[in-house]
Amino acid sequence: PQKNKRKIATSNKLTFDQIGGQESAKQELREALDFMVRHEEIKKFGIRPIKGILLTGPPGTGKTLLAKAAAQYTNSAFVASSGSEFVEMYIGVGASRIRELFREAKTRATKENKESAVIFIDEIDVIGGKREGGQQREYDQTLNQLLTEMDGIYTSDSPRILLVAATNRKEMLDSALLRPGRFDRHIQVDLPDKRGRRHILELHAVNKPLSKDVSLDKVADESYGFSGAQLESVMNEAAIYAMRDELDEIEQGHLSLAIDKVMLGEKTDRESTE
Ligand code: ATP
Repeated sequence: PQKNKRKIATSNKLTFDQIGGQESAKQELREALDFMVRHEEIKKFGIRPIKGILLTGPPGTGKTLLAKAAAQYTNSAFVASSGSEFVEMYIGVGASRIRELFREAKTRATKENKESAVIFIDEIDVIGGKREGGQQREYDQTLNQLLTEMDGIYTSDSPRILLVAATNRKEMLDSALLRPGRFDRHIQVDLPDKRGRRHILELHAVNKPLSKDVSLDKVADESYGFSGAQLESVMNEAAIYAMRDELDEIEQGHLSLAIDKVMLGEKTDRESTE
């Protein structure tokens, strides 16, 4: 059988401070996590544990970052995967990969001497999409396995498991995933507003030489509708323009050009020369 290849499966340190904007998403997530770590009381009150948190919103808004920060915040091991990794030609492979993912999370937590693990599944809609009219799909088994694993999460388990999943199509999810006891908490992760954009730009400017004339406020104004990922690209492209002009610093004009470039969605020079 094919080895389970994972794009991102790191325990890189990342805190909520390194995520720009998204104040309400961060707040809601922290509240849910603060509640979850009180497992003794939760047990005493007979409260059903939160097993899953669903992050919903457009691509590139920081959902993966939030999941990583959640792991850091709760001192948990972090294991990441994407829904598309579980879609296979052969029936049963997806389901066994789900099992592997949960097993890996537990192993990693034990190895890292941690009491809990956060499992992140991006694009959950790929495996958790609506099952229409009793139609059997090749990956139903995968979804069933995920539900089984979620149902098997208990507060008293050691290491504890928290599933964080992301989608930009919540309306597509099968109702089984949205039932109480599954993804109980839904957190909306929207495109950043102007303040959020400014914050994200600042975060991505820390290691870059900006001319003192640069106004990130102006950049935030000009980048209406941009996601965090696009703003990261803007800073990066601007630095490339400055370098190309053989200057020591990034100037306002470079940032404006970079906004246009990202807006047009052109491939970056870096990508095309790689
Ligand atoms: P997708 O749904 O496409 O997986 P996502 O919402 O998970 O997207 P991330 O992978 O978290 O988005 O973000 C991609 C990159 O964009 C990050 O690595 C970071 O560089 C930048 N980024 C996105 N949002 C933010 C943010 N709020 N603050 C700082 N950087 C951000």
